[in-house]
Amino acid sequence: MRFTDTRDRSVSVSFQDAIFTGLAESGGLYYADKNPDLTRLFASFTPQTSFNEIAAETAYAFLSDELTKTQVADIVQNAFQFEPKLKRICNNIISLELFHGPSLSFKDFGASFLASSMEAYLGRQSRRAVILTATSGDTGSAVARAFYKKANIDVVILYPSGKVSPLQEKQLTTLGENIHALEVRGTFDDCQRLVKESFADPELKKSLNLTSANSINLGRLMAQTFYYIWAVAQMNTGKSDNLIFTVPSGNFGNITGGIWAHLCGLPVRKFIAAVNANKVFPDYLETGVYKPQPSIPTYSNAMDVGNPSNFERLQALYGSAEKMKEDIESYSVSNHLTLKTIRSIYEKTGEFICPHTAVGIYVSASYLKNNEGKIISLATAHPAKFAELIEKTIQKPVPLPLSLKKVQALPKKSEKIDADREMLRAFLEGLK
Ligand SMILES: *Cc1c(COP(=O)(O)O)cnc(C)c1O
Repeated sequence: MRFTDTRDRSVSVSFQDAIFTGLAESGGLYYADKNPDLTRLFASFTPQTSFNEIAAETAYAFLSDELTKTQVADIVQNAFQFEPKLKRICNNIISLELFHGPSLSFKDFGASFLASSMEAYLGRQSRRAVILTATSGDTGSAVARAFYKKANIDVVILYPSGKVSPLQEKQLTTLGENIHALEVRGTFDDCQRLVKESFADPELKKSLNLTSANSINLGRLMAQTFYYIWAVAQMNTGKSDNLIFTVPSGNFGNITGGIWAHLCGLPVRKFIAAVNANKVFPDYLETGVYKPQPSIPTYSNAMDVGNPSNFERLQALYGSAEKMKEDIESYSVSNHLTLKTIRSIYEKTGEFICPHTAVGIYVSASYLKNNEGKIISLATAHPAKFAELIEKTIQKPVPLPLSLKKVQALPKKSEKIDADREMLRAFLEGLK
């Protein structure tokens, strides 16, 4: 299978090239414009088929030109020492919990699969790579945990000093080994600028095999198909084309994974993109006009995106709002209703849910007021990551999982640098 650039359809690259380059040369994203029909493979999965089996079979269907079945199975086995879980919320809403991985968010699936794939390719070619990334807090920890102790790979994470939460800082800085946390005296924008400048330096890029691992990477997207396929298999409804997925969305990478699976034959009736006040996408479906906006801060802050990067992939796949509307609906939820949902789910079920998950649950419940169906609503982060907000909302302490408690007790290991490209360059040169 080959992968195409959203901005130049004459481009066709292997999975290996797509994951190590991240962005295509034109600035576009890689996607699959021709997909294998996997209807029969998906139908062969049962509630007894394990998540890793489903991941390995699906990945092999995509990668059989480049890797053997055993190599793919090893990549999957190295990537996933955690699984999704399904939990009934109420009659026709089931929560697909994707937060049981090392950094407690759904991003662990994509980051772990990418890390494991890169390790496999580098090992075969005796090459090394340096992953360089900037974080404002949350996204860095999935990458740090995924690449921890991966052979032939160093990870350098830039974060703004004093501007990430104490727990997030611990998550980034306590691993050590091949994970290097650089505390930048500056803002998140400074961190991003430093990363951009490094990638723009051809000599540095080449000598270090400098690579990004950000959320648009095709390797992350591929892994985000697996849990949709697993969830449909778990439901075992025979005619599961009555299923609807609700996906709390920001950059739309998670939902694009589900849609990719659907385009390969996964029987799904509809995808619902649940968004917060950042509603460029539902506005596009309504008007047919795509108007990026500055992002608006909300409680579901991992979804505060005014120009979703995966819109470009969806547009390449569907072509128009009319076509997209056949598969996707989208609704926006206010901060007020987000908190109200956190409260009402706690009162009804005793479960704590994170604000992103709450946006999805609210949309799912409203949809079922006017429509028939069974909804699988994605739970994207562990509530403990948003303990402060939840505790303020329902006046109950949110228990911290053991892994977070442990991390809090570990010593911080980071190096402070100025927001200066020469200081970063010196550090990177030192990794050679
Ligand atoms: C990243 C993130 C989202 C949004 O996912 P996209 O793929 O960007 O749409 C939702 N919830 C949580 C907790 C996240 O970390």
